[in-house]
Amino acid sequence: MPIYEYECGSCGTVFDLMVNRSKAKQKPPCASCGSKRTQRIMSGFFGRRASNDGGESGSVGSACAGCTASSCAGCTK
Ligand SMILES: [Zn+2]
Repeated sequence: MPIYEYECGSCGTVFDLMVNRSKAKQKPPCASCGSKRTQRIMSGFFGRRASNDGGESGSVGSACAGCTASSCAGCTK
C-alpha cells in the first residue's frame, strides 16, 4: 500500500497517509485541523530515486568521482 504525503491548504500541516488504491483519488481531511483543503504532494522518495537513476552509475554513496571512499572526508584532492 503506497504512502502519500498531503499538505493542508488551511493550516499548512504536512502529513503522511497510507492510501488504498481505490481511495487514492479522494482527499483525506487534514490530520491537524480536519480541513478538506488538502492536496497530495510528491514525497521526497520519488525525487531522490529519480535523481539517482539519472545520475552517474556505479557510485552510490560516493560523492567524489576521484576516489573510492564512501565520503570525501578522506579525499585530499
Ligand atoms: Zn489543516
